Amino acid sequence: MSQVTNIATDTPETLLRGVLEANGQRFTEQRAAVYRFLRATRQHPTADEVFTAVRGEITDISLATVYKALETLVSCGLAIKLAFGDGSARYDARTDDHCHARCTACGIVLDVAGPDLTRVLPALSPANGFQVQGYRVEVVGLCESCAV
Ligand SMILES: [Zn+2]
Ligand SMILES: [Zn+2]
Repeated sequence: MSQVTNIATDTPETLLRGVLEANGQRFTEQRAAVYRFLRATRQHPTADEVFTAVRGEITDISLATVYKALETLVSCGLAIKLAFGDGSARYDARTDDHCHARCTACGIVLDVAGPDLTRVLPALSPANGFQVQGYRVEVVGLCESCAV
């Protein structure tokens, strides 16, 4: 299959349209607004936070529509869903392998710069025939504002 989209050069709209159509999904203004917001933020928002932001642009959008749009983006590989110990789900339009740091006081989630852990993590091999399906690395601590 030839590559129809280029994540580096396409505008978010063109990229979204191409990927949605390749996955048999419809391009809608709601999905576009959700994707635009997710691409523009580094906050790793929850569905609620996306809803609050996008409602400023599309006043009649519902939380259910936002939630479905986010899940569609995840299923098409345009976003990842981050699940944390506190049960909250957050979304990230950055889909390359990267780690996150979570503030235990305010809950903010930040990207972590550092070495490519996908190369070192396979050195961790659990005993007793455990079949590794993946790794989750989470840095926990206090963010800059909470640490003072
Ligand atoms: Zn904090
Ligand atoms: Zn991230």
